[in-house]
Amino acid sequence: MLSTPIQESHAPIDILIVGGGIAGLMLSIMLERKGYNITLVEQATEWKPIGGGITLTLNGVKILQDIGLLDVILPYANEIRHINITDQQGKKLSSFNLDGYAVSYAKTFTVLRHDLHSALIRRLANTRVCLGTSCTAIINEGNKVKVSFTNKQSGIYDLVVGCDGINSFVRRTLFSNNVNKYCGYASWRFIAVGVEVQQNTLTEMWGVGKRFGIVPLRDNKVHCFASVTALQNSAANRNISVGDFKGLFSGFAGYVPDLINALKKNSDLMYNDLEDVCLKKYYKGRVVLIGDAAHGMTPNMTQGASMAIEDAIVLAENLTDRSAIEKSLEHFQAARWHRTRSVQKKSNLLGKIGQLDNSYLCRLRNYSWQRIPDRWIQNDLRNLLVNNRTRLD
Ligand SMILES: Cc1cc2nc3c(=O)[nH]c(=O)nc-3n(C[C@H](O)[C@H](O)[C@H](O)COP(=O)(O)OP(=O)(O)OC[C@H]3O[C@@H](n4cnc5c(N)ncnc54)[C@H](O)[C@@H]3O)c2cc1C
Repeated sequence: MLSTPIQESHAPIDILIVGGGIAGLMLSIMLERKGYNITLVEQATEWKPIGGGITLTLNGVKILQDIGLLDVILPYANEIRHINITDQQGKKLSSFNLDGYAVSYAKTFTVLRHDLHSALIRRLANTRVCLGTSCTAIINEGNKVKVSFTNKQSGIYDLVVGCDGINSFVRRTLFSNNVNKYCGYASWRFIAVGVEVQQNTLTEMWGVGKRFGIVPLRDNKVHCFASVTALQNSAANRNISVGDFKGLFSGFAGYVPDLINALKKNSDLMYNDLEDVCLKKYYKGRVVLIGDAAHGMTPNMTQGASMAIEDAIVLAENLTDRSAIEKSLEHFQAARWHRTRSVQKKSNLLGKIGQLDNSYLCRLRNYSWQRIPDRWIQNDLRNLLVNNRTRLD
């Protein structure tokens, strides 16, 4: 057995967390602090370095700061002070300065995904971690959940939390099977080493049906992302060569040629079809989904990690005792559904605008985007990142 059921109502809640990404790790840390019995199963057989960089926006950073976790990430983090959108030649279309928020609220950072994961893993204390393990069956039975695992063991839990990412097994098993919606464009990510860019500026360049993003990290590294309007699951895009990739983005100026030249081999390019996960309810019985498993979204607003962090803190703060788990899940749904759906929609819309593939419409887009008053963008982002009621009172 992976877990021993405990009968007394005042005994610590037994919780199974499926998936050790940002959502699963954050939740484990938060629930450990409450003294619950946590088992975390992760399908990977070891905690090994995983892809690319990630931007931690100020709403996620604020939570890390509030719960005393920011210090473990800071040694690996690079501060972002400006976010620019430009055309493909590098002409500025809009610019967003984050300095005011850095003082009054929280900073924005970029970090290698692996460093973020490692820092969180090091903070796990009492969680029982089972690597190389996944679930084969999950059954809601009254106020318990029965789970069978790939290692032939089984367990009974008060609560199971699916943190298993955009293609969640937990979601496919207990919730709807058909909720991933392709957004019409594919993306590649890679890390360029040794190319000097503006260290505190995140830039997204808009072309015609193509975008290129420049995300400076620490230690002379740059996380680059590129997207192209395309049919889903194109073998040509999935298996693109460095040479073809260079050709595809040859119309982009500024730092882009140097960054692409830093690419050495085809396998340095990480490919994803970008999808939204659209689910109406995040829990069923005693099983709840958080992070990408619940609401995977396009990375256009770089909100995926922060949404996972927000989910974890709201769920952890809501869980009180075993007899009130249903109520806690209801509260979680009420607190998180509209929030995550609206961020997902905004991110999707921004992607559609950036990804326009008609040259006339792109000229019109660029012309209008430059004329949007800064305060509109500031207000919108303030509402999204600062003035949201993430935590329950
Ligand atoms: C191209 C791209 C760029 C992105 N850039 C950003 C960015 O800059 N900023 C940002 O905030 N977000 C970004 N995101 C989104 C961000 O990566 C996700 O929102 C975030 O990782 C979600 O965390 P998670 O823990 O929910 O899922 P994941 O990080 O996907 O973690 C899921 C974990 O579950 C494990 N797992 C999966 N299935 C099982 C199973 N059956 N059993 C056990 N374990 C399982 C996986 O191995 C993994 O460890 C980006 C996403 C993409 C695709």
